[in-house]
Amino acid sequence: MSSATSETDAAPAEPVVFRWHEAEVVAVEAITPSVKSVRLRCAIAGRQRAGQHVDVRLTAADGYRASRSYSVASPPDGTGTLELMIEGLADGEVSGWFFADAAIGDRVELRGPIGGSFSWDGPDGGPLLLAAGGSGIVPLLAMLRRRAQVAPEIPAALIYSVRTRAEAIALTELESRDREETNFTLVLRTTREGEGGRIDADAVEAALARTGAPGKVFICGSNRFVSPTADLIVSAGVPPGLVRTERFGE
Ligand SMILES: Cc1cc2nc3c(=O)[nH]c(=O)nc-3n(C[C@H](O)[C@H](O)[C@H](O)COP(=O)(O)OP(=O)(O)OC[C@H]3O[C@@H](n4cnc5c(N)ncnc54)[C@H](O)[C@@H]3O)c2cc1C
Repeated sequence: MSSATSETDAAPAEPVVFRWHEAEVVAVEAITPSVKSVRLRCAIAGRQRAGQHVDVRLTAADGYRASRSYSVASPPDGTGTLELMIEGLADGEVSGWFFADAAIGDRVELRGPIGGSFSWDGPDGGPLLLAAGGSGIVPLLAMLRRRAQVAPEIPAALIYSVRTRAEAIALTELESRDREETNFTLVLRTTREGEGGRIDADAVEAALARTGAPGKVFICGSNRFVSPTADLIVSAGVPPGLVRTERFGE
């Protein structure tokens, strides 16, 4: 699923969350060979719940506009900025611009935050069972960062599937959380190197061994990742009604 749209006209008056706000790029950093972290200063920063996304709109010199959805990687942090993590896709209209061209001082537009049901905050409780494929880690990373800020006692486990370790987003942060946060476990599976293979019943069992019966389950990634992973988690005895999913693409 993608909420991608191309637009030629300005939107009419809409509720506040759907209004476009100017945003300025304040930092750009390559965090894997194909993903860049982009930090934006914007009036809507700080309003997000962990897991929500924003729509980003680019406008070309000739007035052509394109917008895409991107999850917010940062929890509210009082900086007036928010962090996106964008995978540069070959021929990608919007991700290609962010990956190849975006620079400090550039201006784009944002609206949101969007996505109430795929979001989490401390009072929602846990334990948290999270599963991500590739760039699907971004909203779940925001949840782990939020948990560390407000509720580190809540048990949490992340099952993360990537092709190679080099392609894993925020791996240093996740491995350090795994070492230092007593209530958190990272179950990493690499599909193109090492012995790990794809996510399977063993990976789910390893995660559940840390969380016990989860109170919240969030799964994010491509369609091909989300459906089989949800099936594995439900087969392990987790009630289907607990499972929230978000799909980034095919
Ligand atoms: C709720 C939500 C949150 C998202 N969060 C993130 C995020 O945090 N980080 C991130 O990098 N992306 C995220 N995405 C995906 C993002 O919205 C775009 O779909 C993606 O960046 C491609 O846009 P594009 O303009 O670069 O490519 P397009 O010009 O739309 O397409 C270029 C080519 O890439 C293919 N393609 C399109 N989307 C994808 C995809 N997601 N995966 C693989 N191939 C694709 C198309 O079929 C086409 O061949 C999210 C999507 C949704 C719906």
